[in-house]
Amino acid sequence: PIQSGIQPNDIQAVIDADKNHVWHHLIQHKPFETVDPRIMVEGRGMRVWDATGKEHLDAVSGGVWTVNVGYGRESIANAVRDQLVKMNYFANSAGSIPGALFAQKLIEKMPGMSRVYYSNSGSEANEKAFKMIRQISHRHHGGRKYKILYRDRDYHGTTLATLSAGGQPQRAEQYGPMAPGFVKVPHCLEYRNQFPDAESYGEAAANAIEEVILREGPDTVGGLCLEPITAGGGVITPPEGYWPRVQEICRKYDILLHIDEVVCGVGRTGEWFGYQHYGVKPDFVTMAKGVASGYAAISCTVTTEAVFEQFKDDPSDPMSYFRDISTFGGCAAGPAAALENMRIIEDENLIENTQAMGARMLDNLRALQDKHAVIGDVRGKGLFLGAELVSDRTSREPAEEKKVQAVVADCMGQGIIIGATNRSLPGFNNTLCFSPALIATADDIDRITDSVDQALTRVFG
Ligand code: PLP
Repeated sequence: PIQSGIQPNDIQAVIDADKNHVWHHLIQHKPFETVDPRIMVEGRGMRVWDATGKEHLDAVSGGVWTVNVGYGRESIANAVRDQLVKMNYFANSAGSIPGALFAQKLIEKMPGMSRVYYSNSGSEANEKAFKMIRQISHRHHGGRKYKILYRDRDYHGTTLATLSAGGQPQRAEQYGPMAPGFVKVPHCLEYRNQFPDAESYGEAAANAIEEVILREGPDTVGGLCLEPITAGGGVITPPEGYWPRVQEICRKYDILLHIDEVVCGVGRTGEWFGYQHYGVKPDFVTMAKGVASGYAAISCTVTTEAVFEQFKDDPSDPMSYFRDISTFGGCAAGPAAALENMRIIEDENLIENTQAMGARMLDNLRALQDKHAVIGDVRGKGLFLGAELVSDRTSREPAEEKKVQAVVADCMGQGIIIGATNRSLPGFNNTLCFSPALIATADDIDRITDSVDQALTRVFG
């Protein structure tokens, strides 16, 4: 039950205030003329309650893969409170106790990495990496190695530079012109076979990146930015052989490898970081959402010492440092929350739980695939899974978007919140997405997949 203290007669006032004054992210507002916006009032563990008192089991960790340790964590709230009362903020040219301690703990989880640059969102963390790659190009390659490669269907953020590196076309539509110097490479989704003659699909998909590098001129390409497992673009797990070849290509052409762990990072896939499944050694790793599970705004751009060294090698040069600031990247609430978030993941063995519950969910989804012809493909790792819906298994024609949305709505009616790939992927809005908190139990997992079973039966027969 809701314990928020909001009385039923106050709820309408809150809804009216929201309707009249809040500009919500990523949705059209016209429907609010006839339907009230949903206001989330309280959360505990895997469950949230909205202002009507309805209980939901959240299978998407706050909508966008964020609340990794679940709702209502008093110890995180207390850690943030204690830090704010003691020392809330000083610009990050100075340090903070949680900032220093979290950086050290994080680096312990990331062998080969060395430095943590703090900011506030995934977009910002990625933009910092882009700027570092550009500055390295200016400082060490006469400004020539300025191009940054990104992949079709990947998403790296909402600012103009990160949108320019975005592989989901509708997100950029009507916001052009985009920033120059970002170049697209093909995605690696084996189910949407782009390389039918390949002996190794993974190597062929990586070789397609090399072709773009050769076309652009290797001495003009400074960075390659990839999600380890593509999130909103369709939960795309890399095919066998992909990452080793990507690493080889980056080394061959002296291209810095930037892995965007904004979704996959901090346990989501059953390792601390998604790239750690594939033995790859990145130059940059960015992360945000699960770092503090939504209890505070924090993101990190993590680099190797070799990258960092390139910014401090000439003290006599006034340009030889990273000339960038993020005001709130100095707010101590972020790393205070992140430290406690990490302690919870370790003490409650949530990585192990993610592996076990992820395997259970994958099995359940595969059983649904045997039962429902509309499920063409099931993929993902840990508690980061997707089921691609098709209207025909042979042609693999994507299922109609409105039917996919009807499945999501049916589950919502059953009190289960699931997700689907967003409308920014014309023709590919057809993957159901699941990312419950890392605390999910077997019962939670079974309830989620049971609701999908029922919804698929009702929508597709
Ligand atoms: N990178 C990935 C892979 C994401 O999925 C997102 C957001 O969904 C971002 C970056 C951008 O993060 P933010 O919304 O915190 O700016």
